[in-house]
Amino acid sequence: MKKLGFGFMRLPVHDEENRATVNMELTKNMVDLFMKSGLNYFDTAHRYNDEMSEVALKQTLTDRYDRNTYILANKITMNYIKSEQDQEPFFHNQLKTCGVSYFDNYLVHNMGEAFYPLACKYHTFEFIRKMKEQGYVRHVGFSFHGSPELLEEILQKYPQMEYVQLQINYLDWNDPAIRARECYEIAKKYQKKIIVMEPVKGGTLVNLPQKAKELLHKEDEDLSLASWAIRFAASLEGVEMVLSGMSTLDQVLDNTSFMNNFVPLNTYEIELLEKVADVIRENTEIGCTNCRYCTTECPKNIAIPDYFAIYNNMKRLENNSYLRNQMVYYNNLSMKHGKASECIKCGICEKNCPQKIEIREKLKLVADVFEKTII
Ligand code: SF4
Ligand code: SF4
Repeated sequence: MKKLGFGFMRLPVHDEENRATVNMELTKNMVDLFMKSGLNYFDTAHRYNDEMSEVALKQTLTDRYDRNTYILANKITMNYIKSEQDQEPFFHNQLKTCGVSYFDNYLVHNMGEAFYPLACKYHTFEFIRKMKEQGYVRHVGFSFHGSPELLEEILQKYPQMEYVQLQINYLDWNDPAIRARECYEIAKKYQKKIIVMEPVKGGTLVNLPQKAKELLHKEDEDLSLASWAIRFAASLEGVEMVLSGMSTLDQVLDNTSFMNNFVPLNTYEIELLEKVADVIRENTEIGCTNCRYCTTECPKNIAIPDYFAIYNNMKRLENNSYLRNQMVYYNNLSMKHGKASECIKCGICEKNCPQKIEIREKLKLVADVFEKTII
């Protein structure tokens, strides 16, 4: 089986301010190109692309291709579940919205210290197994953004889970907050199949500081930055699939070009990526992946990941003309969203953040730079 999956979470949109405005024609072309290249794994969730991912999946894939030509993964997201009884209607609605009668893979979404207790309370792991027994699901698992200790606890408690979806990329591999390597080792210890998400860390690994870029380009000018990141994850033993949240036709072309005839990284190349990771760490202030889990429930509608992105950009290239440029973006965004300084510190966003970012603290930094600086 080829190891590249199409993550339906950063689909192209008509209006960047409204991610529900999925560009269906372009997405159809991307799906066609992906399928034509011999790849067929798709991963969605109800909350992706401002709750339009499943709708887009139906229009661009399941309405247009035979069910036996693709593999489809979906998830139960605890934010939508307010009681145990909510799970069955939520699940059947997902089948209907996606236009299918079964999911190949079905996962408990975003397990970690925040949502695992809720999944236990509502017997969600038992629920997805029931869906499997009833023939609506082929394989069950969960996606995970927590500590290795919690991962081990879940795998011991629910040995029937067949696979784990983990955040693995060369920047998080030895990161003391994410602990990707340790989570990978736990999953291997329990002989679970591993699916990788965020191999490019939400675009961070294609938007490198100049020095990091030079290190990779010196090695081979023709290789894309994404290819290094995706091949790193795919080279790990036991990894069955690497998901890439593609947003353009060029990204599909690029990703399929090196994953169709996949060549694992050698030891020298892995060591090179360790050096690149050191350079990135020196230059990145806030390790946000733009997953946007923090935004849906923010009572002040603060554009958290967008503010973090422009703050990181500004920090990477610290000079006054660039700060002015980023301030224009900040001012435009804050016309339609709450300002960073309007955060009421309720903490809901931090509960939802898989990267464990201290969002309230970081918003203070953003406000100091973009709301108080006079140029
Ligand atoms: S802490 Fe601030 S940014 Fe986070 S959800 Fe509350 S108001 Fe929004
Ligand atoms: S702050 Fe956290 S939850 Fe929000 S987009 Fe960034 S990584 Fe995702």
